[in-house]
Amino acid sequence: MKRFEAHASQGSVRYGDEVIRYLLRRQPGRKSSRIAIHVDPDGRVLVDASESASDVQVGAAVRARARWIHGHVTSIRLRVAHVLPREYVSGESLLYLGRRYRLKVTTTIGGAKGVRFRGGYVEVVVQKRNPSVVQAALTDWYRARAKAVLSAQLEKLSASLRWVGSPPPVRFQTMKVQWGSCSPAGRLTLNPHLIKAPRECIDYVLLHELCHLKEHNHGKKFYRLLDMHMPRWQKTKTRLDDLAEDLLNI
Ligand SMILES: [Zn+2]
Repeated sequence: MKRFEAHASQGSVRYGDEVIRYLLRRQPGRKSSRIAIHVDPDGRVLVDASESASDVQVGAAVRARARWIHGHVTSIRLRVAHVLPREYVSGESLLYLGRRYRLKVTTTIGGAKGVRFRGGYVEVVVQKRNPSVVQAALTDWYRARAKAVLSAQLEKLSASLRWVGSPPPVRFQTMKVQWGSCSPAGRLTLNPHLIKAPRECIDYVLLHELCHLKEHNHGKKFYRLLDMHMPRWQKTKTRLDDLAEDLLNI
C-alpha cells in the first residue's frame, strides 16, 4: 500500500453545490484499465487508476459516480456526528432492548448502590460522581441483564427447534465485531451488548447460532434452515447492522 501512496495526488470534481475531493493513487503495476473508487471508513474518497489513465478520464469516472460518493460520504459524516463518546452524566441516553432511556446519576453515602429502572430512567446510584465508576456500574448491569434476558430467550427458542435437545451452554463475552458464535462442540458465545438491541434482532442472532448446532458452516443448508424459521431475517440483520455502531458505544 505504502508504495502506491507515494504516487498519490489530490483531485476534485464539482457535484451540484459540493466539491468532491479525492486522493488519486497511481498504481504502476495495475493491469486493469478500470478506475476503482472507494470511500474509506473515515469518509476519504480514494481513486485507484493505472499510470496510463489520463486525468480527464479519472475526473470523468469520479463524476459518473458522484451521486453515490456524495451519499456515502454524507452518511459517514452523519454517523460520526451522531455517535459521540459517552460522558456518563445525567441526561445522556442509553439503549436497552431497542428503546432509549435517559441516564440519571445520583449519589448516596450510606445507601444502596447499583443500577435500576425508575420511570423512564435508568438510575445509577454511586458513591461519587465519577464517569469511570458510572461506566463500570453500567457495564456490570448490562452484563447481568444480558445473562438473564438472553439466556431465557435462548431457552424459549431452543424449545421450539426440533434439532436442539436442550439449550446449549452459553458464555457472555464482549466482542468488537461479532454478536455471537458457536464452537464446533456446540457452545455459544454471545456479546452482552446485544441486550441493547430490539428483541427481533436478538432473536435473529440467537436463531443464527442455534442453526449452527445443526449446520456448522454458512452453506446452503444453513440458510435454508434460517429462512424456514425466520423468513425475514435479512431485513432484521440489516436493522442490526445499522444499529451496530450505537450498540457498541458502551
Ligand atoms: Zn454464522
